[in-house]
Amino acid sequence: MRIGHGYDVHRLTEGRKLILGGIDIPYEKGLLGHSDADVLVHALMDAMLGAAALGDIGKQFPDSDDAYLGANSILLLRKVAALLRENGYMLTNADCTVIAQKPKLSPFIDEMRLKIAEAAGVSISRISVKATTEEKLGFTGEGLGIAAHAVVLIEEVCV
Ligand code: MG
Repeated sequence: MRIGHGYDVHRLTEGRKLILGGIDIPYEKGLLGHSDADVLVHALMDAMLGAAALGDIGKQFPDSDDAYLGANSILLLRKVAALLRENGYMLTNADCTVIAQKPKLSPFIDEMRLKIAEAAGVSISRISVKATTEEKLGFTGEGLGIAAHAVVLIEEVCV
């Protein structure tokens, strides 16, 4: 078994969609980024790549490459899951935390879990998504951005 951690932050801005865990969430602002800026999926992919010592998403999907301009992060997650399998690992479980003052994410949590589980090729019971605020403190509390952490366990697949 191997463990991995991922962390990501994106700035909130007007005129962008808010995509979290592959779900389009109604809100007056969205996250700014080269891809769809899905901060939750980015943290999760970094945790998976980290657990397998395969670098990070910046290495796998460079933002200097226009192929990833506006990229759907769920599709990138599919690639990361495939890369892990190619390297002899399976995702045992993931525990993710989104840190956002607004909007309220609890109504969307199970949709996000399902979307992530499908892309990662595992059962929804292996994917945890949680949301918290930082009590109006710091950049997330002031609504300037959204952060996400992910911790994963992967296992070597016996062949
Ligand atoms: Mg990112």
